[in-house]
Amino acid sequence: MNLNVERLSVSFGEAKIVQEVSLRVQNKQFVGLIGPNGCGKSTLLKSIYKVIKPRHGEVFLSELNVIKASPKLVARKLGVVGQFNELSFDFTVREMVAMGRTPHKGMLENDSQQDADIVSAALRKVNLEGHTGRSYNSLSGGEKQRVILARVLAQQPEFMILDEPTNHLDIKYQLQILNIVRKLDIGILAALHDLTLAAEYCDYLYVMKEGRVAASGVPEDILTKELIREVFDVECETYRNPVTGALGIAYLETK
Ligand code: ADP
Ligand code: MG
Repeated sequence: MNLNVERLSVSFGEAKIVQEVSLRVQNKQFVGLIGPNGCGKSTLLKSIYKVIKPRHGEVFLSELNVIKASPKLVARKLGVVGQFNELSFDFTVREMVAMGRTPHKGMLENDSQQDADIVSAALRKVNLEGHTGRSYNSLSGGEKQRVILARVLAQQPEFMILDEPTNHLDIKYQLQILNIVRKLDIGILAALHDLTLAAEYCDYLYVMKEGRVAASGVPEDILTKELIREVFDVECETYRNPVTGALGIAYLETK
């Protein structure tokens, strides 16, 4: 599935938070959204996944008009890993992941053996098969994040949106989550705060500043010290990872 966002704008009262943002994710690309805190990344993503109604603009997942379509129809195609995943009611890990099957089921339809197998496979993929009976609220932030990813895997979406999915995670699990997501072989739009990981995993980047797209392109072209100074207000040098050859960013003193 391709994502097409056309001139999307979001306001809260008088405040224009997202302004005329257009972006595309095509051919199963892994596309990153980067930009400083408060520049509007989460607001943009929420308006794409239907939590916030945009003031103007259009969102299409291939032929599906996301803004007009029912939430259930969108949930069959689109998986979301949001930023905050607190629950007021407690569920077990397995129950949480099983909820990923909901968009595919009728109102009173019970889980089938096939659903149970999909849920087990998703738990295995994030190394949580030993935690299935634990209460979700008792888990650490990183474990919760992996449960949320497993739930989205169980949903078997054709496109995925992630909002800083590796916050609170050890580096091992940051890499694990990004590797799992990359291997899904579906289109991905992810807000990422770590620029070196963005360089490593993304085929293409959109840089946001003050609600607008300030730049876009392949990581090699985008992640220059000049752009990082301009957008993030920090000094850095870029370098090549001596083993992988990947682009790296070394931060110098902040101004
Ligand atoms: P980012 O994800 O890039 O850090 P956000 O999209 O969360 O940025 O926030 C962008 C701006 O919108 C911030 O100034 C934030 O305070 C404001 N904002 C976000 N949600 C709301 C809301 N519901 N009402 C008013 N302002 C909001
Ligand atoms: Mg955010």
